[in-house]
Amino acid sequence: MATTEERAQAQPRCAVSFTFDDGPDERWTPRVLEQLARCEVTATFFMVGERVRAHPDLARTVLAAGHEIQLHCDRHIRHTALTEAELQLDTEMALDALATVDVRPQLWRAPWGICTDASVRVATQVGLQLVSWSIDTHDWRGDHPQHMLADAQGQLADGGAVLMHDAIGPGARRAGCQNTVALLPALAAAARADGLALAPMQHQAISPAAIEVPA
Ligand SMILES: [Zn+2]
Repeated sequence: MATTEERAQAQPRCAVSFTFDDGPDERWTPRVLEQLARCEVTATFFMVGERVRAHPDLARTVLAAGHEIQLHCDRHIRHTALTEAELQLDTEMALDALATVDVRPQLWRAPWGICTDASVRVATQVGLQLVSWSIDTHDWRGDHPQHMLADAQGQLADGGAVLMHDAIGPGARRAGCQNTVALLPALAAAARADGLALAPMQHQAISPAAIEVPA
């Protein structure tokens, strides 16, 4: 008969992922990393190729801290505003940028989460899985950490992904990411209080939220 400990080990680990789009950013990525280390959380960073070319050392620091880097884009443009050839080129450039820091991503979160049929075809060509998120903190609006926590904590669930940003992307309505940094300890505590571990998306037992392509 299995002991309690053996049964616990045999069960899949329930986990949620903290994810950060739009970096790396010289000012904010180090602050996010510092806070994640304090909370003992490893996370997923969906990076922008042109920012990786500008700050390869920051990307390496993210990896060295045990986090995962996946693909966001090369230039932060809606897929609906690109031809399929332009999207292919953008994706190849981003993959080249990530390769310079020895990252071969498996997950792809499109800018604003907007995907087209071309996104699906390009993803298949380059062997990437398009993914979305299950919880949007709306941190780009500059919301107060308490408000973001109140909205997000009821949605924490196994296999979920929390969308946050470690940079100021296009359309952001805030000047800095300090509220995202401030949110992390309370959000990590809320997840753990619900029995959820915090793990990068790639390492989750359950596949991350699948992408929906607008008809
Ligand atoms: Zn973005």
